[in-house]
Parts: sequence; structure tokens; C-alpha cells
Amino acid sequence: MTRQHIKKGCIHVYTGNGKGKTTAALGLALRAIGHGYRVFMLQFMKGSKEYGEVQAAEKYLPDLIVVQSGLETFVDKENPSRADIDLARRGLETARKVLREGHYDLVILDEINVAVDFGLITLEEVLELMRIKPEHVELVLTGRYAHPEIIKAADVATEMTLINHPYYSGVEAREGIEY
Ligand code: ATP
Ligand code: MG
Repeated sequence: MTRQHIKKGCIHVYTGNGKGKTTAALGLALRAIGHGYRVFMLQFMKGSKEYGEVQAAEKYLPDLIVVQSGLETFVDKENPSRADIDLARRGLETARKVLREGHYDLVILDEINVAVDFGLITLEEVLELMRIKPEHVELVLTGRYAHPEIIKAADVATEMTLINHPYYSGVEAREGIEY
């Protein structure tokens, strides 16, 4: 069977401080897979197999590849470790390679906006990824604090606004919902 490709791929940015950015990208992945597309998700600043999407992809979704390029621990914005920086840079290399090859129809760079905001990678490096995206590839960039230049260069830009979150009534992150 010959796979179809997206004719003219767009760039999406999902940002803001409300819940739903990573899961919106995963919803899009599910929809794309349903139409026979191949999806690659690279998660910056995450390094735990506990995430439901990592497990679901491995067990049930051969057309969704999820690669993590971060540590299991949170990054200290004021003082990121050498390993945090090295892993983010490795993630950037992987993103460049995946985009250049154009094998995947949908490429999701999860939390890449946060990696820029924390200084792990540069704004210019992300703008370069947006420029090298092949015509047929749909690209999604997620994470809080998206730089205005990134928003400006995107075709779809959505801001999730925090109105409420169970966290504020003391509910800890729940398996299967928050991760
Ligand atoms: P999700 O992964 O559920 O789609 P997200 O990608 O929008 O959320 P992030 O900004 O990446 O959220 O936040 C990381 C984690 O914090 C996620 O587990 C998310 O569910 C949770 N979270 C999202 N918004 C809030 C909030 N306002 N307060 C506390 N935790 C939040
Ligand atoms: Mg997220």
C-alpha cells in the first residue's frame, strides 16, 4: 500500500499556562495515524517512561514514535545541569535529522518552547527548524512561554489559558491524566 502524504504541511504552536498543550498534540497524532500518517514526537526536558503516551506508543501505536531527550528530574531554570543542556542539544540534533529526512508526516517537538525559555537551546535554532521543515511535513511545537518570533512564524498558534486546575485545590498530578 502506498502511503499518502500531506500536500502542504503547516506549523502549529500550542502555548500558554493552561492544561492541554501536549495532549492536543497527541490528539492530532491520533487523528493523523488514523489516516495512515507516520508521527514522530520528540519530548524535550522529559525522561520518564511513566508518561502514558510513551507506553501507549510502544504497546499499541507502531506509527507513533516517542523519543525523550531529557532527565527524569525537573530542570532548574536558573542553573540547568550539563546533562540537561546536553540532552536538549541532542534532541535538537534529532529534530533536525528527522525534519531533513522527511520520513514522518507529523513531527511534534514537545516542550521545545520551554527549552528555549530555559536557555537550553536558542530561539534561532528553533526558527531554523521551522525553516528546514519539508513542504509535506506538519510540525507542532508545544510548551509554555513560546517566543513571539516562534508564534509569528507559525500558521496555527493557540494559547491555552489557565482558568482553573486541580493542582490549585491540592490535587497531585494523576497517572493517565497529567502524565
Ligand atoms: P497536558 O500534558 O496535560 O496536555 P500541558 O502540556 O498543557 O498539559 P505543561 O505546561 O506541559 O502542560 O505542564 C506539565 C504538566 O503539568 C502536565 O502534567 C500538565 O498536565 C500539568 N499542568 C498543566 N497545566 C497546569 C497548571 N496550570 N498547574 C499545574 N499543573 C499543570
Ligand atoms: Mg506539555
